[in-house]
Amino acid sequence: MFQTIPDPVPDALHGVMAAFRADPRPHKIDLGVGVYRDDSGASPVMAAVKAAEARLVADQDSKAYQALKGDEAFVAGLGALALGVPLPPRAAAIQGSGGTGCLRLALELAKAANPEVRLHLGLPSWPNHANLAAATGIALVTHRYFDVEAQRIDREAVRAAAEGTRAGDLFLFHGLCHNPTGSDLDDSDRAGLLAILRENGAVPLVDVAYYGLGDGLEADLAFVRTVAAEPRALISVACSKAFGLYRERTGLLIAVAESEAEAARVQGRLETISRTLVSMPPAHGAAVVVDILVDSALRKDWMVELEEMRARIFGLRGELEALSNVAPMLAGISRQRGIFRMLPLSPDQIAALARDHAIHMAPSGRINIAGLKAGDAARLAEALAALSK
Ligand code: PMP
Repeated sequence: MFQTIPDPVPDALHGVMAAFRADPRPHKIDLGVGVYRDDSGASPVMAAVKAAEARLVADQDSKAYQALKGDEAFVAGLGALALGVPLPPRAAAIQGSGGTGCLRLALELAKAANPEVRLHLGLPSWPNHANLAAATGIALVTHRYFDVEAQRIDREAVRAAAEGTRAGDLFLFHGLCHNPTGSDLDDSDRAGLLAILRENGAVPLVDVAYYGLGDGLEADLAFVRTVAAEPRALISVACSKAFGLYRERTGLLIAVAESEAEAARVQGRLETISRTLVSMPPAHGAAVVVDILVDSALRKDWMVELEEMRARIFGLRGELEALSNVAPMLAGISRQRGIFRMLPLSPDQIAALARDHAIHMAPSGRINIAGLKAGDAARLAEALAALSK
């Protein structure tokens, strides 16, 4: 049977990671994969996570299965953090396997509810959004979100896309810190789009991956809280970035339904879907998050460290903005948020940066700003300036 399986399509970012590892030059710069890095280039375990893990190892008295919905305290705790209030009775919620697993659950649910569902996705986007639609068998309808040359959101195209939704369609929003552009819609754009979706009976699907790394935790979660007031909404909250729990695959999917009775049916369906994906969700990452959220000292410690991470990214954006006299394509970078920026570079230019300057980035021209160590910002700007000559 396996003769029919075609050759795998190599993952572009894994190629970048391999090229970086193989580069012997000590001053090499890794702007590829999207993880937070500190100024030594490491992605360390957060101190609050370490403390919670130590406690967990000492206190855990069973490895028996969790409930189908996952860890109750995690669902309630992260739900309350995300929404700013306890999960309302008309919300169903389930633990998912990282942001990816939560989005998969959301799409499977939407497909079960409406086999004709379409996912409206602005491009460029995180490539897994399209992969997930394909894996779920959901038709993708794309529009242009961003003009990379002009570093400008194509608001007309986004609005037209919302207007083109049908009842039961999904419309994807990046909750904040848009990946890969760093450019987010503003409050009035979003309010306008939500009104159009509401009118059409389409459902917002909000991917919340970078809370705490934009304008600060409360500001970053403001949009999610607005969305939770819509008649129906799907909200994926990943713990990979904000808690640094990447490999622990920790996240929460919230499905806001029109009524409590509807939410009960949605909850049941989500658990049925999850049963054949992971059966019962894993416990470790969720237990760590619970400990951090309920212990006030750990929670404070986590928030301080998250704020330090945010401040570092903010500082790097400022440094790069100041270098836009050297490399004009960096102009406006301090107005964007999160760890990413799209540079308008050709494949040849991206190859030249790796070959001549040991600067490695995704083939799309996306850079992870957090990958810059002390002194690297100037080197990047000079390398970009050398390209344009
Ligand atoms: N959404 C976006 C926009 C992301 O950038 C990421 C992480 N790269 C995720 C979701 C989810 O990541 P994970 O599955 O590792 O939680």
